[in-house]
Amino acid sequence: MDWKVEAGSLAQGVVGPDDWSSASAPFRVVLVNPYELGRQPFALAEPAAWLRRAGFDVSCIDLSRGRLDLDRVMGAGMVAVFLGMHTATRIAMELLPRLRKILPGTHLCAYGLYAPLNEALLRELGVVSLFGGECEPDLLGLAENLRSGEVIQPVNRISTEAIEFVRPDRHDLPPLEAYAKLRLADGEERVSGFAEASRGCKHLCRHCPVVPVYRGRFRIVPPEVVLDDVRQQVTAGARHISFGDPDFLNGPTHALRVVEALHAEFPEVSYDCTIKVEHLVRRPEVLPRLKETGCLWITTAVESLDEAVLDYLDKGHTGDDFISALASAREAGVPLAPTFVPFTPWTGLEGYVALLQGLLDLDLVNSVPPVQLSIRLLVPGGSLLLELDDFRATLGPFDRATLGHPWQHADPRVDALQRQVSEIASSGEAEGLSRPAIFARVWNAAHAALGGTVPALDGADFGPVIPALDEPWYCCAEPTEQQLGSF
Ligand code: SF4
Repeated sequence: MDWKVEAGSLAQGVVGPDDWSSASAPFRVVLVNPYELGRQPFALAEPAAWLRRAGFDVSCIDLSRGRLDLDRVMGAGMVAVFLGMHTATRIAMELLPRLRKILPGTHLCAYGLYAPLNEALLRELGVVSLFGGECEPDLLGLAENLRSGEVIQPVNRISTEAIEFVRPDRHDLPPLEAYAKLRLADGEERVSGFAEASRGCKHLCRHCPVVPVYRGRFRIVPPEVVLDDVRQQVTAGARHISFGDPDFLNGPTHALRVVEALHAEFPEVSYDCTIKVEHLVRRPEVLPRLKETGCLWITTAVESLDEAVLDYLDKGHTGDDFISALASAREAGVPLAPTFVPFTPWTGLEGYVALLQGLLDLDLVNSVPPVQLSIRLLVPGGSLLLELDDFRATLGPFDRATLGHPWQHADPRVDALQRQVSEIASSGEAEGLSRPAIFARVWNAAHAALGGTVPALDGADFGPVIPALDEPWYCCAEPTEQQLGSF
């Protein structure tokens, strides 16, 4: 893999990291986002606001939307890489050795859900400070200590203490037009902004990367800060806001306050959010209010329609709960966009085919991005799945390449089908095929793997096309070579 940089980007005469304690120029901090679902990252903009308020010279670099500009990193006293998801961490594994080489004296830091859980690996790559949870005070404290010339001891710290959020500073991130756009059912595209009204989650689903860090806690961003952030993004052209909260209804009163204020000030601006099936079932009365305030769709992590798998994942819902939530949402006029983990050690070929049949029966084919049909269960370090003794005994040792504990299905045909579906989904997306067209290829492959005849899909109802962001990538998908080499 080549190390690519912007041509002619090396600045002359920059102050090196060893000079900071005596230099008059402000201490430089670089915040780097490898990838975050095509969203303009709140997780860079919020710490940037904290650091700039304290007088630091901050650069935000989003590698998902451009290559590394060396002018913006040379001379930095601290580089902090945001590891909010698996794909970002895989990309960082390629990035960090290069950063270490070109910035030998610069303090390297990693923060976000995946930083504390990958300590050993990150230390080998030169990262000294690791922060998880509500990281802004730690990032600020580290920068202040570096600025004052203190020797920094290695640290790995998770904090979920409430912090005082300020308006995120997005001014040097790529423009919103560069990020994932809203695509309406009729094909119209709109610029989307990205906000967070809370972080963490009060639930403990076993496979979820939020849990090892937040352990059942969540923290809200005050409505006035969320609105201020939305306001600046609407001014920058956003006509839709995608809320990145792990679960929008962890604090329903707070969530409703946010969207009602949003709608009162910007009635023409729509939004989407993510809500757990359990919350949709328990609070169906919220759905009409979400619809009235401009909610275009709700992403919901169904993961499986198989009760045994849902038990293993400790999802807190059943297949019937999902069907009930779907009915409530449809009655309220808000489409659900379910996500799945179709490939697990507990799902055989029959179970996979049953999931595809379930999507047909529920008229959901058009509501599910094809990549969702290919997701394979990830078991990262620190996962609560490792507490399942019987399951842990079947896993391989932590694999540095994939950042997880490998597993093989008892039926090798399942693993082969997973690889095939992954290829079908990515090539179908690249060809611009519709979701039903890609689904049909997956349908054929799954039935072929099972043996016997392939039931015809002629006349099948694939359900309505629903609005979506045009970057259908999800946290547990494997990064592409293009993403890995994009910096
Ligand atoms: S509800 Fe969602 S965010 Fe919360 S623990 Fe479960 S999977 Fe994670």
